[in-house]
Amino acid sequence: QKNKMNCIFCKIAKKEILAKIVFEGNDILAFDDIEPKAKIHVLIISKKHISSVVDLKLEDRKMVAEIFLAAQKIAREKRILKTGFRVLVNYGKDAGQTVNHLHFHLLGGEKLPFA
Ligand code: 5GP
Ligand code: ZN
Repeated sequence: QKNKMNCIFCKIAKKEILAKIVFEGNDILAFDDIEPKAKIHVLIISKKHISSVVDLKLEDRKMVAEIFLAAQKIAREKRILKTGFRVLVNYGKDAGQTVNHLHFHLLGGEKLPFA
């Protein structure tokens, strides 16, 4: 998981392992989290391997914009625009980051903790 050779999200991006895909764009992919922490829990990832949010470069800005547009589109499709949702990134030990490939969590469908 340190390199992209055996990165689980790279494998999902290349459709080498299965995920419940909810949206696909040019540079991004969104799929249901395998262990949902809320009624709606979607992960939005870059197709390109980027290890974490602190490895982003200015040249990645179009991809990051795509991530937020995907989030609003998925939220609309899943009918949580009215009730609300959260988009978040975990970085490092204290946040509990477990996968070293850039991903944004889209959470909703119920009252979320840590509001
Ligand atoms: P992190 O804690 O790194 O921000 O979040 C990683 C997330 O990826 C976790 O919520 C975990 O459930 C999810 N996850 C880990 N492996 C897989 C997988 O193989 N498939 C899917 N769909 N989600 C995964
Ligand atoms: Zn990767």
